[in-house]
Amino acid sequence: MSDWEEEYSATEIQQPKKTQAGTPWVPQGRQRYSTQGTIEETHRGSGSRAQGWQGRGGWSHRPDESSWRDVEQPREHRANSSSGWTREFRSRDYSRDPTNCPMSFRLDSSLIGMVIGRGGSKIKELEELSGARIKIVKEDNDSEVKIFGSNEQQDKAKGLINGIIERQQKGTDFEYKNNRSNDPPNMGTSVSVSGKPMIDWTSLRENKEKYEAIKWADMPPIAKAFYKESPTITSWAQVEVKKWRKENNNIICDDLKEDGKRPIPNPVQNFQDAFYPFPEVMSALKIAGFEKPTPIQSQAWPIILQGIDLIGIAQTGTGKTLAYLLPGFIHLDLQPIPRNQRDGPGMLVLAPTRELALQVQAECSKYKYKGFESMCVYGGGDRKSQINVVTKGVDIIIATPGRLHDLQMNNFVNLRSITYLVLDEADRMLDMGFEPQIMKILIDIRPDRQTVMTSATWPDGVRRLSKSYLKDPMMVYVGTLDLAAVNTVQQQVLVIPEEEKRAFTLHFIDSLKPDDKVIIFVGKKLIADDLSSDFSLQGIPVQCLHGNREQCDREQALDDFKKGKVRILVATDLASRGLDVHDVTHVFNFDFPRNIEEYVHRVGRTGRAGRTGESITLVTRKDWRVSAELINILERANQEVPPELMEMAGRYEEFKKKKDGERDMVPRKGRWRNDH
Ligand code: ADP
Ligand code: MG
Repeated sequence: MSDWEEEYSATEIQQPKKTQAGTPWVPQGRQRYSTQGTIEETHRGSGSRAQGWQGRGGWSHRPDESSWRDVEQPREHRANSSSGWTREFRSRDYSRDPTNCPMSFRLDSSLIGMVIGRGGSKIKELEELSGARIKIVKEDNDSEVKIFGSNEQQDKAKGLINGIIERQQKGTDFEYKNNRSNDPPNMGTSVSVSGKPMIDWTSLRENKEKYEAIKWADMPPIAKAFYKESPTITSWAQVEVKKWRKENNNIICDDLKEDGKRPIPNPVQNFQDAFYPFPEVMSALKIAGFEKPTPIQSQAWPIILQGIDLIGIAQTGTGKTLAYLLPGFIHLDLQPIPRNQRDGPGMLVLAPTRELALQVQAECSKYKYKGFESMCVYGGGDRKSQINVVTKGVDIIIATPGRLHDLQMNNFVNLRSITYLVLDEADRMLDMGFEPQIMKILIDIRPDRQTVMTSATWPDGVRRLSKSYLKDPMMVYVGTLDLAAVNTVQQQVLVIPEEEKRAFTLHFIDSLKPDDKVIIFVGKKLIADDLSSDFSLQGIPVQCLHGNREQCDREQALDDFKKGKVRILVATDLASRGLDVHDVTHVFNFDFPRNIEEYVHRVGRTGRAGRTGESITLVTRKDWRVSAELINILERANQEVPPELMEMAGRYEEFKKKKDGERDMVPRKGRWRNDH
């Protein structure tokens, strides 16, 4: 599809204050189906949006809040046909040229798939047949369909869509695989006075499960079980397995299936144990030159390869990417429908940031498994070229939720073909507020897929997400369930006045050895810019990474740092998670992070893949709130706790007690607060 979408969305929409006649603007009368199948005049009620506007046949003439605001008094009503179409003048610009005015209506989301078709194929067909351009804006319960073009083209498109809906209502558009039944199950269809079958939406909702089954009825089966346990692993005694788990970062496993727990498979001890039936994986691993699986890989591979959903909780830098990628490659390769006959990607990895998405893609490309094509979809990247690649067809999409949801809403990507889904760094995605987009993306992904979720921490939000989107998962956590401090890093903490931080940092930089590589973390983008230009002025080569920089500059900064062109990277927490630069020797926390989780992530940027590293953290008086948690982390990792930090924690504790006491004594609304 071309530029038209930007063209139209760019049209400035002004809120009309007055009608043409100069009278105050009020929502105009609208038509809707009555329950008897006749057309009634109706107005926008003051109450709930959901009431009264939904036509029975699925046609919904209820304008949403924004379209009411945006719509000028219509000069033309075309709602006299049985399907009740309305022509709306959505902006002042359109009123100058009525032929350009888009026809717009709403359709229940459960019907919209019929109009869109797989991967937008039906829309394309409709556009070709009618010459009109069709845009669909998806929302939770219904979607807005807009038709652009001449009157004739719009009418033609309308007629075609009408046909699809009618066929759907008669049940002729459902394709039943395996001829299990020729009749669609009775899901609340009823017959109107005109004799046409009508859909009873209340009953339909009650039959959600049946509807889901129909929604996914034409999907091919998924193959999931590929694991062949090697005899050495099978014969491993349970006491030994327990001991091994304990010695390998204290791996703890759990089966979260509610009705009847399954045995947790033994971990594999080497690559051969997991992948001996897959020589291509073995040779890919040979190229990578790794010695043996990391603890999370050892335990995750036998679970994922059995087709079981997995939640993997492990600190950063522990090899979670390969833990899900390698079984994912095998899964994609061994689906019953050959690759060239699938009509969309098979694997989707959702990741919180562009950098992480790019990194996962780099890992995908490194192994070049069976020539699988992967692509990255992220905000800030060139949308058009991403659309070009995605519509050409790829096997694996690695995406940030925002941009993927944008492409999904505009029907540029078919998510129905996905059978292997990864929610990578789920805790970070939630922190970044991506939950709504994730929820919407998952509506279009088949529920019987295999899902893997990774996270470095296990907060409530991640638990909730895992309950909603994983089916009977097993869980593997490496280290303790709460914050796992990185134990390959020597952590130093220095309590210092704010105004001495810069001088100390310069002193620290002076003390670096030629091969050292350091990330200096700061709290704000402005400070990142300020500090890095300060260093540059003093002749210290640095790069700077934060969210306000252009994507190409961000990529350049990271590349320079990875390749060692610069050995100092000044960054915000954008770089604190998952970013894999394996030879970082020092993490320098110029500003203390906003929470202790972030501290763990930052520190995890060094000490990667078995190396040792060092972290230096500057703490000022204003950070006293986190001092107790920081002490806890340091103690658990057997690190030295400076006495100043102890004092600080003590003072904060005192302060908190005093404050709580004062608050309890403050009268509120004539009552003492602590007397209820
Ligand atoms: P995480 O996602 O857990 O933060 P990554 O998957 O990014 O960690 O892995 C961190 C680094 O460890 C990467 O450079 C990766 O190539 C490397 N790695 C992965 N698996 C192994 C292994 N089995 N042995 C050694 N290094 C590994
Ligand atoms: Mg990762």
